Amino acid sequence: GNASRLAAINTITNGKAISVEMPEPLSKIWACDVFSLSKMEESLSKNAFKAIKNTVQTGAPLDPATADVVAAAMKDWALGKGAKFFSHIFYPMTNATAEKHDGFIVPNAEGVAITEFTGSLLIKGEPDGSSFPNGSLRMTNAARGYTAWDPTSPCYIMHTANGPTLMIPSVFMSWTGEALDKKIPLLRSNSAMNKAAHKVLSLMGETNIATLNASCGAEQEYFLIDENFAAARPDLRLAGRTLFGAPPAKGQQFDDHYFGAIPERVQVFMQDFEDRLYRLGIPAKTHHNEVAPGQFEIAPYFESANIAADHQQLLMTVLKNTAKKHGLHALLHEKPFAGVNGSGKHVNWSVGNSTQGNLLDPGSTPEKNLNFLLFCGAVIRGVHLHGPLLRAVIASASNDHRLGANEAPPAILSVYLGDQLEKVFTDIQQGNLAPSKCGGVMDLGLAEILTFTRDPGDRNRTSPFAFTGNRFEFRAVGSSQSVSGPLVAMNAMMADSLNWIAGKLEAALNSGLDQGSAVIAVLKELMDAHGNVLFGGDGYSSEWHTQAVDERGLANNRTSAEALPALLEQSVQDLFKNTGVLSPVELQSRYEVYSEQYILSIEMEAKLTMDMATTSIYPAAMTYLSELCSSISGAAAMGIGLDNGVAKKVAAEADAMMQTVAALATATEKHDFASIEAHMQFCAHEIRPLMDKVRSHADSLEMTVSDAAWPLPKYSEMLFIR
Ligand code: ADP
Ligand code: MG
Repeated sequence: GNASRLAAINTITNGKAISVEMPEPLSKIWACDVFSLSKMEESLSKNAFKAIKNTVQTGAPLDPATADVVAAAMKDWALGKGAKFFSHIFYPMTNATAEKHDGFIVPNAEGVAITEFTGSLLIKGEPDGSSFPNGSLRMTNAARGYTAWDPTSPCYIMHTANGPTLMIPSVFMSWTGEALDKKIPLLRSNSAMNKAAHKVLSLMGETNIATLNASCGAEQEYFLIDENFAAARPDLRLAGRTLFGAPPAKGQQFDDHYFGAIPERVQVFMQDFEDRLYRLGIPAKTHHNEVAPGQFEIAPYFESANIAADHQQLLMTVLKNTAKKHGLHALLHEKPFAGVNGSGKHVNWSVGNSTQGNLLDPGSTPEKNLNFLLFCGAVIRGVHLHGPLLRAVIASASNDHRLGANEAPPAILSVYLGDQLEKVFTDIQQGNLAPSKCGGVMDLGLAEILTFTRDPGDRNRTSPFAFTGNRFEFRAVGSSQSVSGPLVAMNAMMADSLNWIAGKLEAALNSGLDQGSAVIAVLKELMDAHGNVLFGGDGYSSEWHTQAVDERGLANNRTSAEALPALLEQSVQDLFKNTGVLSPVELQSRYEVYSEQYILSIEMEAKLTMDMATTSIYPAAMTYLSELCSSISGAAAMGIGLDNGVAKKVAAEADAMMQTVAALATATEKHDFASIEAHMQFCAHEIRPLMDKVRSHADSLEMTVSDAAWPLPKYSEMLFIR
């Protein structure tokens, strides 16, 4: 029956709003739970501080003696905050985070508790490696895995129900040193990009080049629904999305939610959420309603990629926990509700340093423009050569629901530069920007770029990879994903392209060309080979899909089953091997882990589909059918003829649904697949369509069966009651 559904609605409508608390001033809470450089400076000797600061800023190794000193200061700080436990936090190949908590306490011989925390405890932990996915690395790593402190990402206090805990951001590797996580490749990709960028900048005559870092600012979209609804829907609880649900009469057709007034209950939640982020030193910057009802976005200010990636993971955790406290359920799934806009995570990315600045910023001087054009060209080449890789790193069962669904970028990777900049590159390609035209100072006639408009109206929302004034925005990333995979791919392709550019540039300069002519020559060659990836039109249109594939030879890997095998391509192996980001065996293990996750999540959803159809939707249909039948036969006994069309429809839909459930059950029993790829193909093209078919019968029942008999909270309720 519908008891739990009605109880949920009742509880929500009679619930008391959580009262608004006065927020603490920013100055009081900002990063108060972070063991930041300034806190280290207060508690460390001058020499120790100098050593750790150097490590934090350049990644230089820390000597064990200093590590001991830092550990002691960190312990004092954490104990002062009431922490009794510490934990290395790491980022396995799932999109989740993992922790292993240890007490500071060590009883001494007299049985008196003392606290201990040495440099070696800070630096290294030893969780059980076999309990995390590791693909084929399982063979080589036995059970042992190590976590090791990443001193470039600050430690912090996490407040949970069991008290404050000191969290230590860490890498996670096998005992043979293979990366089992998402942080190691990210750090390696950054250093490969840094090396390659150095080469190019030196050739451009730059001296005093500081370490280059990728930056990342991620815009996180999410849904909030009342937790009572989530409790009444096994699909939301287990799969994070609705596997059933008829479209409501009112959806997002009025566009009245986007940038509208934020509902009060959500405002209170956001304030609490952001205060918690501020305490953790996460610079939450903007928030607003998103397109769909019940959908919101939060975007922190950008930070260096490694820290931004850690903060992104933390943000997702804090988001879920804070929502819970407010009686809300946060949905980070890419497509929680069919027919309603999905959620993405736009990853804004640039590369730069403290001496040359942001290399993807056109800047205001001609010399900077040349650097900018080279770095921008590197991106164009990278996306063209490695589009399938970029598609693979955003592949997941959940993101498949969103990509190409006419609301999110297509699965085809193209680059949007905007009219002005695209013209500069095509002019270079066509020889219209020949440096011979510009005498003396090399200004390339690029006056437009110098005053590059940063008008947000000049944005192409249908492009998966768009230049937005001083950065690229990778818009196809899924809302539930770690940003690390996309950042690794972008940094690696950048490193590869910059290396290529350095080689060409060096040759051109050696042949006697002046700097400007050499840059133009290299960019012309680059555009001839890769200009095809530039596209400023409507990425949602069917013409683009045809043109991209047939005329431009770009890949359109629609599902993860098609996208993930790109990780095995020779070009991807070479890219990662040459940049030192992932060894072939590390890459192979990632393919296996991501493919397995894809298969497991579809199989889990298939089981849940069968379960909900059989144990809750079918019984509701039968209850209603028996009511209809007894009314019809009762009426007939009194000589009243009732139309039995509705009864017949319910019976037919219910029967058809259960027949499809049976077909789905048979399909899920198949296990003899020739390869992981074949298994993924089966999930994408056999299992998923059967699930959709079960759903369509169920949704048709939802629109026919008496509201009073319907067991599951409906879209109109979940999206609008709060
Ligand atoms: P929009 O929704 O218009 O794209 P937002 O302000 O919501 O803009 O988000 C833009 C994101 O891009 C923010 O996280 C911002 O800090 C980040 N960002 C800005 N400049 C850079 C940059 N140079 N490199 C990386 N990220 C950046
Ligand atoms: Mg954006």
